[in-house]
Amino acid sequence: MPNNNEKLNKMKKILADPKHPKEEKTLVLIKPDAVKRGLVGEVIKRFESRGLKIIGLKMVQGTPKDFDKHYPKSKAWITNLGNRTVETYKKYNYSLKKDFGSEDPFKIGKIFRNWLIDLMSSGPVVKILIEGVHAIDNVRKIVGDTQPTFALAGTIRGDFSVDSAGAANKSRRAIHNLIHASGNKEEAKNEIMLWFTPEEISDYKRVEELI
Ligand code: UDP
Ligand code: MG
Repeated sequence: MPNNNEKLNKMKKILADPKHPKEEKTLVLIKPDAVKRGLVGEVIKRFESRGLKIIGLKMVQGTPKDFDKHYPKSKAWITNLGNRTVETYKKYNYSLKKDFGSEDPFKIGKIFRNWLIDLMSSGPVVKILIEGVHAIDNVRKIVGDTQPTFALAGTIRGDFSVDSAGAANKSRRAIHNLIHASGNKEEAKNEIMLWFTPEEISDYKRVEELI
């Protein structure tokens, strides 16, 4: 096992800005709701068959503490999460006061973040490190919209779930949307650093790179 400094330097090298778009990396977590539905193989297949390269893969049981580190703690991120709930409540004419005791998006976001941590630590996740052309955007496209109700057919969320924010809020839980995928370069760097060690990452070529 490399010591912490050695590990940090190796990870920094692995996560250096890509010299070519095909070197972009992103993190996927197959969430406990998908693992418990036996969708691991189906999900992996979709990324692989599209032409993205899996360079790290493992089933792990995350703790609430792991997910507290995984999801940003900034006021902006939490407020944005709360705002999405506020929008959903407006759309369906639900009462925020009744369900959350507040209409403040930051306060609601904090409650929500806890539901998310509960869901993510409720069973094992499969962590996948994916590399490939515009990996972040391509993976998000394959995964689909946050709310499976609005995710297009052909996407993972659109093919395997009907859940919605409306349904999840009413049951006081996070949306069962099967997959976490990094949303941008900064998230990808932080999340890969959190979930992977250098010895868990493989370097090899897919056939497309050789022809
Ligand atoms: N989430 C939710 N209700 C919402 C918005 C988000 O339950 O109204 C949960 C959902 O599980 C989502 C996660 O919070 O995957 C993180 O939210 P984000 O906006 O980052 O969505 P994603 O990047 O996963 O599409
Ligand atoms: Mg996100």
